[in-house]
Amino acid sequence: MAQRPVVLVVGGGYVGLYTALRLQKKLSRGRAEIVVVDPQPHMTYQPFLPEAAAGSVEPRHVVVPLRRTLPRCRVVTGAVTGLSHAEKRARIAPLEGEPYELRYDVLVMAAGSVARTLPIPGLAEHGIGFKNVGEAIYLRNHVLARLDAASSTDDPEVRRRALTFTFVGGGYAGVEAFAELEDMARYAITHYYPRLSTADMRWVLVEAMGRILPEVDLDMAAWTVKQLTARGMDVRLNTRLESVTDCHVRLSDGDEFNSDTLVWTAGTKPNPMLKETDLPVDERGRVVCEPTLQVRGLPDAWSAGDLAAVPDLTKESPGATTAPNAQHAVRQAKRLADNIVAVLEGHEPEPYRHSYAGSVASLGLHKGVAQVYGVKLKGWPAWFMHRTYHVSRVPTFNRKARVVADWTLAAVFRREVISLGQLQDPRREFVEAANTGRTGSLPPPSAEDKAQSGSLRAS
Ligand SMILES: Cc1cc2nc3c(=O)[nH]c(=O)nc-3n(C[C@H](O)[C@H](O)[C@H](O)COP(=O)(O)OP(=O)(O)OC[C@H]3O[C@@H](n4cnc5c(N)ncnc54)[C@H](O)[C@@H]3O)c2cc1C
Repeated sequence: MAQRPVVLVVGGGYVGLYTALRLQKKLSRGRAEIVVVDPQPHMTYQPFLPEAAAGSVEPRHVVVPLRRTLPRCRVVTGAVTGLSHAEKRARIAPLEGEPYELRYDVLVMAAGSVARTLPIPGLAEHGIGFKNVGEAIYLRNHVLARLDAASSTDDPEVRRRALTFTFVGGGYAGVEAFAELEDMARYAITHYYPRLSTADMRWVLVEAMGRILPEVDLDMAAWTVKQLTARGMDVRLNTRLESVTDCHVRLSDGDEFNSDTLVWTAGTKPNPMLKETDLPVDERGRVVCEPTLQVRGLPDAWSAGDLAAVPDLTKESPGATTAPNAQHAVRQAKRLADNIVAVLEGHEPEPYRHSYAGSVASLGLHKGVAQVYGVKLKGWPAWFMHRTYHVSRVPTFNRKARVVADWTLAAVFRREVISLGQLQDPRREFVEAANTGRTGSLPPPSAEDKAQSGSLRAS
């Protein structure tokens, strides 16, 4: 190993950020160079994405800037496109310029997961995921823009299509996004759209299994379905999306309808970049780890989080691995960083062990469901627990203070429900002005323009 070992952290999300934070604290300056590579200049606190989409929290406050938080690390904004651990070389594709190779001594693979999609006709063209802050901002603007569109037309079909919102996947990410956005749209219609009624909206959640929220007990999941249904939302269990063509949605139960909005939250899979590495993966494409979070057979490669198969030592069943969630990701990152420091100092690494504490989910303002250490909470107490838990968890005091300030302002001045539609296509007006200047007349809208002003397109 070189005099000053290079620790390469692939991904600056939950695992990457928390690992780097701990390493920069524990390895005094000069003992190691810590390089964090991520295509985004920030970590995203994903549990706050539904609230960011619903306007309860400013989207900038749910991300944590890597350069500011990691002053003693080298932050590279780019993607690792593959690596040879045998040669200790990683390929980096920077934001701009030629790809290059980076040599390292110790690897932390923490590139997370991507949406798990299916080959459903029209899904790639019309759907959008819900995993990053761009998608949250886009959806917020899109939903509010659909209310504007519906309120400004007399065509019943255009109005029905604009006010039909379809979500696929009933895990916590999907249910929270579904419930929070409906809550925002309901609030907006009630206060600012006298030509619309909340009864005009149709919110459809499609779930292939016979239940939603697998993270909580069946009775809590059933209660959540009942609550959503009581709000007029349509939860379809044991149902699959068959196709979506020109905004026409077809479901496996035979129902079909037009919908301008299709949000896909039906699970995740390990980052496919792993295929471009020589790290061992299991049948689900996850990096195979030892309980110490070392990659199997490679003592100087470590992994954790959504893309890692980490043995769950709290379960008796052989082969059990920890679930892909933030609760494990944060704790694994701390154990992983401590183990790297231990090994660099000639000590033995310790195994990771954590019993899953439970889940908290927000279902809109003052509504929620939670099951933590066996205690089941519904409604306002669950929502309050969701907020207090996540504000205690979001990294840095700066972000905690800003999130609390957002909530306080929204409570005092009401939440902000204005669509910044120009964010979806900021150059349009300028390009039209430039073209008009050149030709003296306004060009007809392109197919792309028409699409962006109406149906939702994957960005
Ligand atoms: C909407 C939503 C709500 C959620 N709510 C909860 C919740 O309430 N409770 C809970 O426990 N969990 C929740 N989760 C899950 C939780 O956020 C994840 O389990 C957690 O983020 C996993 O951490 P990670 O570090 O493995 O991945 P991530 O945090 O996703 O980080 C992966 C990082 O790798 C980067 N990356 C990707 N490709 C590359 C590449 N090629 N090179 C370099 N970097 C790369 C990404 O940009 C990203 O920054 C939620 C998830 C979502 C989407």
